[in-house]
This record gives sequence, structure tokens and C-alpha cells, in this order.
Amino acid sequence: MKTLSQTDPAILELIGKETKRQEEGIELIASENYASKAVMEALGSSLTNKYSEGYVGKRYYGGNQVIDEVESLAIERCKKLFNCEHVNVQPLSGSPANAAVYFATLKPGDKVLGLQLDHGGHLSHGHPVNFSGLLYNFTQYQVDKETGRINMEKVREIALKEKPKMILAGFSAYSRNLEWKKFKEIADEVGAITFADIAHIAGLIAGKAIESPIPYFDIVSSTTHKTLRGPRGAIIMCKEKFAKDIDKSVFPGMQGGPHDHATAARAVAFHEALQPEFQTYAKNVIENAQAMAAELMAAGLKIISDGTDNHLMVVDVTSKGISGKEAERVLDLVGISTSRSTIPFDPRKPMDPSGIRLGTPAITTRGFDAEDSRAVARAITQAIENHSDNKKLESIRESILALCKKRPLYS
Ligand SMILES: *Cc1c(COP(=O)(O)O)cnc(C)c1O
Repeated sequence: MKTLSQTDPAILELIGKETKRQEEGIELIASENYASKAVMEALGSSLTNKYSEGYVGKRYYGGNQVIDEVESLAIERCKKLFNCEHVNVQPLSGSPANAAVYFATLKPGDKVLGLQLDHGGHLSHGHPVNFSGLLYNFTQYQVDKETGRINMEKVREIALKEKPKMILAGFSAYSRNLEWKKFKEIADEVGAITFADIAHIAGLIAGKAIESPIPYFDIVSSTTHKTLRGPRGAIIMCKEKFAKDIDKSVFPGMQGGPHDHATAARAVAFHEALQPEFQTYAKNVIENAQAMAAELMAAGLKIISDGTDNHLMVVDVTSKGISGKEAERVLDLVGISTSRSTIPFDPRKPMDPSGIRLGTPAITTRGFDAEDSRAVARAITQAIENHSDNKKLESIRESILALCKKRPLYS
């Protein structure tokens, strides 16, 4: 970054500090990952200079011959990766993608069934402060109190009673596989559109480690920067029947020009995910999460639903006499990044909830194996149990640094 060092040393210094933080800390935020150098090079390319409102072959600006080829490649690779009929690769991020899906299929006030936020859903799935909850009439399903799992019989009961226009399946904090086929059967019974939001698990689906909703669902949205390990951005995949409405909704409905540099970086990420190594990566992400969950449970921590089928877990830390916010702070001190999280039926408030959410996509990218993941779990338990012992916390910080040195980023 020679030029940046001359033009803007202040920003260069901050980038350096953040890079160091990422290298010397353990990233367990379930929605984060480390994009490859190739993805970042595409992001930092001349494509950022271009305007290309419209779609391949139908642009509202000249000079888009190359961009058309870039977007076509991204589309072709995405279709191959997910085996979908149609894809729009232009949504700027996950929430705008979901907005485009709603605009394409619903009228304000229409009823949608989605997973409640504090039970693992996402803001854009009908939370009252979000545009989705303000514009549409969301009814929410929950997880069962005893099992921590979504009970499909209850989802069916709510669907039969409420007759939603759309049924939404997807989550940001749920550690079990969704029963795509059952969602589809329920939707067919009530004549609802099926919409899956796979923002968190797209990489695990692309890596063939968990089942895909694409054979069953009408519309599937995803971010490209979580387990899929690409640039920040999103995609909307759908059956051919919805293709025109989805495209019209993204542009000109919601957005102006697509971010062509990010489209190119998506294409690079799809190419990477099509390689056999990515299947190993997806499998390892889940193995690491299961190793971490088992070790945490052995140490007496409660994991919602008692384990995980995917890359994440929600841990109730209150049995150790600490809140989620305090656990997040103490873990930050020892160099472990996590995010506080509500647990289902949380007696505490969202700003200081009972849990933390942990995920293994980022550590698996830097080569952590199951044994490393168990070591991280032990460090978490020790830090939480010794949260007011600064000496002990310092020694845990040292062990975390050693682990990071053993598994360098971009080695
Ligand atoms: C992360 C996430 C999104 C939103 O993505 P942004 O890019 O942050 O807007 C949407 N849906 C789900 C389920 C997510 O986990």
C-alpha cells in the first residue's frame, strides 16, 4: 500500500492496526470470515470506477462491455455453485437483498411468517424497529423452550391459523438444520410463497456440508461475506417464475448502479467455493464448531439446543455468574472476539443479555483444527470463570497469542 502511505498515512495506520488486531486475535463472531487476497484484490480494482445501472446487455450507461462479462461470469459461477434457476448478483448487502425480495412479492401490510429475533431470527425478518416490521405484518414463530429447536408442528399450526402470504425460513443465531421440505409442505398447504435467507449458512451449503433449500424454495437470499467467504454483498436466487419481478425490484426498484468491483469479487469467491478444498473447509467448520460445543458443555456451560449442526452456537453464560455483555468484554480482553446474544425466552435485556454467540468460519479459514477449537473453548471457560482475576486473564491472553502465531492469517 505504497501510494496510500504517501497520500493518507492516517488511514493506512488505522488499516495496519486493524490488520494486526485480526492477526493477533481469535475471531469467533459467527457472521465474520477472512476473504482471500484474491477477493480483496478484485475489490481494490479499477472496477470501482464504473457505472452500470441495468443488467447484462441492457445497461443505461456506455462502456459496459467488460462489466457485462464480469457480471455474466459471476452469474454463471453462482448458478453452478448453488444449482439455482436464476440469480441476481447486484444486491449491495443482506438487508437490501431482503427488502428487494419483499418489494418483489408483497404489498405493504401483507402477512409474513418468520423466526423471532431473540429466538435466532434477523432484524430484517420483521423486527418492529426494522423496515420489514414497519411495512409488513409479521407473525413470528419461536423455538421450543425445552429443546431450543423449531417445532415444525407449531409452525404449521401458526401458518394454518394466520394464512401468511410468505413463509420465511432463515436465521442469524440458530444452531440446528432447518427442515426445508417441511417448510415447503406447510407453505403449499396455505398457498404461501417460500423464502429462505441463507446468509449465515451459504458457505456450508455451497460446500455440500448441509442441505440446500434451493430445490424446494421459491426464493433464496444470501450475503456473500459470511461462511461463503467473499466480499460484502448479497445475492438473490429464485425459480424462473420470480426472475423478472426480483430483477425489477433490485433495479430500478431499490438500487441504482451495482458495485462492479464487488460483483467481480463475488465471482472470485464463487470460483474459490467451486474448488474441492472448499468442501473440506465447510466440513471442517462444522467439525470445529461441534468440538468447541462439546468442550464448553463438558465445562458446564449451557448451549441452546445442546449442540450444533452448523458453524455457530448460542451459549448461556449466566450459570458462571456473568452476563453476555460482561463475557463479551472479558473475552475481548484476552483477544477473543464474540458477540453478546439474547437466548430464547431471555429474562435479561437485549443490551445485556444472557448469552454469547460463537462461530467457527473465521478460525477454520486460518487453519484451526478440532484440537485448536477445544483449546479455544478451554480459554473461553477459563476467562469467564476468572473474569475478575487480571493476572489469570493476562496469561490466557498469552496463550491466545501463541495459538494465533501457530496459525497465521494468509500464511
Ligand atoms: C447477516 C444477515 C443479514 C443481513 O446482512 P447485512 O449484509 O448485514 O445487511 C440478513 N439475514 C440474515 C439471516 C443474516 O444473518
